[in-house]
Amino acid sequence: MRDIFSLRKTDGSARRGTLRLAHGVVETPTFMPVGTAATVKALTPDEVRSAHSQIILANTYHLWLRPGLETIVGAGGLHKFMAWEGPILTDSGGFQVFSLQERRKLDDDGVTFQSHIDGSTHRFTPETVIAFEEALGVDIAMVLDVCTKLPATREALENSVRMTSAWAQRSRAAWKSEQTAVFAIMQGGLDLELRERSAQEIVALDFPGYAIGGLSVGETREEMYVTARASAALLPEAKPRYLMGVGTVRDIIMAVDCGIDMFDCVYPTRCGRNARAMTRSGEYNIRNATFARDYTPVEAECDCYVCTTYTRAYLHHLFRANEMLGPRLLSYHNVYVLNDLMRGARNAIDCGEWAAFRNTHVGNHVGEA
Ligand SMILES: [Zn+2]
Repeated sequence: MRDIFSLRKTDGSARRGTLRLAHGVVETPTFMPVGTAATVKALTPDEVRSAHSQIILANTYHLWLRPGLETIVGAGGLHKFMAWEGPILTDSGGFQVFSLQERRKLDDDGVTFQSHIDGSTHRFTPETVIAFEEALGVDIAMVLDVCTKLPATREALENSVRMTSAWAQRSRAAWKSEQTAVFAIMQGGLDLELRERSAQEIVALDFPGYAIGGLSVGETREEMYVTARASAALLPEAKPRYLMGVGTVRDIIMAVDCGIDMFDCVYPTRCGRNARAMTRSGEYNIRNATFARDYTPVEAECDCYVCTTYTRAYLHHLFRANEMLGPRLLSYHNVYVLNDLMRGARNAIDCGEWAAFRNTHVGNHVGEA
């Protein structure tokens, strides 16, 4: 497969690049809204696009169980099924399966688990997961990995690195589709020696891109930043880097500063459904009584459809009255904020002004261990 990524500029460790995927071009750094069940919750594809999303994420685990592959293939693939024409990345389901705890059994060949929906038994192997993602027709497919919750013993982390590397090799061999780029995943917890081992093993397999997995799973924020920075430095400069499960304003800015290109998180849409407004300067709950007669926008500096059309008082009312438009409007604004933040980050890196941009958004916390 041709190279899908061009690194256009760096400013400190921050990177500005372009991803060329089967369903379109993605400028990086970029945020990917999560469409777990083939829908970015509460938003239509038109809204996802008009909020400046370039690529979305869908979940293999959830789509495997419901509606299942045959339904999606029958529709002509995942893009047609959900009416989203832009690029899609699917995670491998590894993270969800390992969250099932008692309902899964791991062996060297794969993992057997019970559906959280109806208790039925299913089996993921590196090969079946890649075949599933290719059949969906996605632009980027993640390999099946073994994710360990933190804190974890060194033995558990070592085992997750060993199996993740072995599975990456099998995924690489199973990969057939020209339109799907397969990304490998680094593990190793907070142990930098294991991170190094994991990086060496997966980079040797020459994937089009690499993800840093096993973070945002119970460690402190500072531990995450330190590990993300060290992990990013272990990956090839010419390949895209993806930090999984990161989605607050501060975390994303910090991750860009660590040299990461791609992020995903349910955070903005989950907040949107729960009345939590994200802004460039902090978060607040729109249900709070102080907003009952506040006729200013959700965020004064925001030029999104919601902020140029409605007031805090109106959104406050929608949430208090349990009207479904409330979660829809706030989800839209939150996704727009992160996409707009990434647009600002790209401009700042292009202009060599990343440090100033970063400091405006996260203050002087950068580099603190
Ligand atoms: Zn807005």
